[in-house]
Amino acid sequence: MDLSFTATEAAFRDACRTWLEANVPAEPLPSGDTREGFAAHLEWERRLFDARWAVVSWPEEYGGRGATLWEWLIFEEEYYRAGAPQRVTQNGIFLLAPTVFEFGTDEQRDRILPAMASATETWCQGWSEPNAGSDLAAIQSRGVRDDASGGWRLTGQKTWTTRGAFCDRMFGLFRTDPDAERHRGLTYFLVDLRAPGVTVRPVERLDGDDGFAEVFLDDVFVPDHDVLGAPNEGWAVAMATTGSERGLTLRSPGRFLATASRLIELFYSLAGGTEREHDDALRDRLAQAWIDAEAYRWQTYWTVTQLVEGARSGPEASLVKLYWSELDVRLHELALDLLGPHAELVDGDLASWTKGYQFSLSGPIYAGTNEIQRNVVAERVLGLPRK
Ligand SMILES: Cc1cc2nc3c(=O)[nH]c(=O)nc-3n(C[C@H](O)[C@H](O)[C@H](O)COP(=O)(O)OP(=O)(O)OC[C@H]3O[C@@H](n4cnc5c(N)ncnc54)[C@H](O)[C@@H]3O)c2cc1C
Repeated sequence: MDLSFTATEAAFRDACRTWLEANVPAEPLPSGDTREGFAAHLEWERRLFDARWAVVSWPEEYGGRGATLWEWLIFEEEYYRAGAPQRVTQNGIFLLAPTVFEFGTDEQRDRILPAMASATETWCQGWSEPNAGSDLAAIQSRGVRDDASGGWRLTGQKTWTTRGAFCDRMFGLFRTDPDAERHRGLTYFLVDLRAPGVTVRPVERLDGDDGFAEVFLDDVFVPDHDVLGAPNEGWAVAMATTGSERGLTLRSPGRFLATASRLIELFYSLAGGTEREHDDALRDRLAQAWIDAEAYRWQTYWTVTQLVEGARSGPEASLVKLYWSELDVRLHELALDLLGPHAELVDGDLASWTKGYQFSLSGPIYAGTNEIQRNVVAERVLGLPRK
């Protein structure tokens, strides 16, 4: 087994590192979940796009570099290593885009992908509803055919749409055949949030950021060319998006490797370091944090090896989601323990640990709750009985 990167991959890493070191903003941007921060992040993402680093794995015609999966992973490691800003375009580039590549028409790819990559059109995910979260097939928002206008009329309510308050467009599932079995009569729509009949209401989060939104649709027209996949077959399209969300693309190992490195820096930088260095329990947890992040890296390399050899990602993606979401909580809990009893009061750069901790607590909920992932693992990976 050869675990080293090729010369081409090493050169790719050097090119990423050089560009990022020269271009990553020296000061952290304001949170991308606030209006001001979202605008600052878009500016950054446009610079990334101009230098062709926004979507490295996409074909060149859509603004990418045609990078391999390995190179994409390398880019991600370097991106987080450089402390570059969070990607506010992530729900588009990491969730919707792979689905558009798989199910979209040529016209949809040409129209949607370059605007997404260049951050001129931003996307949010409109799946959850007040009575449909874990049980996504319970959605009630509906789409009714409008033959005269060549499209559909959507009515209903979506909730918990991340950065929905600021995005231009939303991809979502709607019930288009109320008589069909509940997984069958659904259609995947690409909705313009500026269309007549759309009302977006921000929902303030615990940390004060206001990007979360509820989206109300009242007889909103969506043309036929904004249906992704076939009408009434949206469930299969949505499951492809889910594979990306739980599996490889949304949370790559680079994010956790960088957090583990920052934890080690934190350990040595805090006052009272000597005392801490002699606290065996803390030292063990720190070592374990680093090992766990490394383990995720190697597990991902294993997954990528399989994908490159032609395998498709399956229900094992649920194991990945369980791992990264629980790892993120552990890393941030350790940070707060290192910061000590006043952790919640720290400000300046250190405050990012508190905010990161709060966000980590949502990891076991979004992208499908961890209870649901455990059900998937039990039934579909281990083959245990449903009851
Ligand atoms: C930070 C964050 C960002 C989000 N962003 C988006 C977004 O952009 N777009 C979007 O559409 N949604 C988004 N969501 C919503 C998210 O997908 C839902 O919160 C999630 O699917 C759970 O649904 P729910 O909140 O309705 O809880 P419920 O489904 O009501 O679940 C409540 C509890 O019951 C448990 N439970 C439910 N069913 C089962 C079962 N069969 N077996 C065992 N336990 C079960 C759950 O695990 C959970 O603990 C986001 C959520 C968060 C926290």
